[in-house]
Amino acid sequence: MSSITLRPAGVPGRYGSYGGRYVPESLIPACEAVAEAFSQAWADPGFRGSLAALLSAHVGRPTPLTPAVRLSTELGVTVLLKREDLTHTGSHKINNVLGQALLARRMGRTRLIAETGAGMHGVATATAGALLGLPVKVFMGERDVERQAHNVFRMRLLGAEVVPVTTGSRTLKDATSEAMRHWVTDVDEAYYCVGSVIGPHPYPMMVREFQRVIGDEARRQCAAELPAATPDYVVACVGGGSNAAGTFAGFVETSAKLVGVEAEGGSGATNGEIGVLHGFQSLFLQDEHGQIKEAHSIAAGLDYPGVGPEHAYLRDLGRARYVTASDGEAIAAAVRLARSEGVLPAIESAHALAWVVRAAGTPELPRGSTVLVTLSGRGDKDITTLIAEAELA
Ligand SMILES: *Cc1c(COP(=O)(O)O)cnc(C)c1O
Repeated sequence: MSSITLRPAGVPGRYGSYGGRYVPESLIPACEAVAEAFSQAWADPGFRGSLAALLSAHVGRPTPLTPAVRLSTELGVTVLLKREDLTHTGSHKINNVLGQALLARRMGRTRLIAETGAGMHGVATATAGALLGLPVKVFMGERDVERQAHNVFRMRLLGAEVVPVTTGSRTLKDATSEAMRHWVTDVDEAYYCVGSVIGPHPYPMMVREFQRVIGDEARRQCAAELPAATPDYVVACVGGGSNAAGTFAGFVETSAKLVGVEAEGGSGATNGEIGVLHGFQSLFLQDEHGQIKEAHSIAAGLDYPGVGPEHAYLRDLGRARYVTASDGEAIAAAVRLARSEGVLPAIESAHALAWVVRAAGTPELPRGSTVLVTLSGRGDKDITTLIAEAELA
């Protein structure tokens, strides 16, 4: 495949052979401006303080660490849930978006653009835009606009403009391409708010840094909760990989085993090959000609054919493992958690739990282990799907 030979010299933001910045010439200065602004902001206690204040007053951080008591007894492993489902707007996306929206304002940008699949990143961006007084334009595949009408209404109520994308498979991959095309045309005024640890440098690194609040909090909470201080396993679902990257960042220097769980039909890290899309080199599902394959998952947030470059690198290093869960396993795990703990997770998050349910008591996850599972979001958006799929209707 020709993309293997693409290797820009001297480009920062490489993770082994992954990452980089494969964008049109006209976007290079824009990416450089974001990288420069982020590194200054992240070193500035004033910026960090403003973000921490918003995360506390607006988002509800820190989120709790909840022992899943009945499920733990049933499975023979101690399961602790990191509750991103309890954040304002209902998923971890808001952690990253508030960071980027504050950065956009600091850079003097006057509007935000974003791509969205299920609509959670669009809703989070619309929320941040409303909060900070920045107009928001959200690109969304036409099929997703139909499938996720409720989130489209939420974005419009928050004052955002939703732009349906009619090219290609009319889903997240095409929405991302369209958002990047639009950025080229409005590069001096618009800030492109990317929703996961994907895209050209500095996005994968910057989004991980904005999401590491999940892992940093969980590390402290585990130290207070567990006799061994650190869990044996740290598990999170992986779409582009931002909730997992943020969670792993808190534990990568410990002895915890890191496990990323992909959707069977969106398994870039498990089954992908090296390639370039959306401005970065990583692992993508491809056909024999190197064409990117469409992802298919019941969880719209996991419907991405690739994975962030840092995950590809962690996989190659053997520091993290990537596995898959099927649609059916995720549905079953979501209903099981609802009934054993009174917590209804997003179907995305239920993939992480599904692996724990499958592996508990096997050599993969021995009895008596302690497991931290990040619940990336709440299941309210998935109620119709869950009822239909779990045959409870
Ligand atoms: C978007 C989303 C995901 C997948 O995105 P990552 O970048 O892999 O975290 C997972 N869970 C929920 C609830 C989401 O909204």
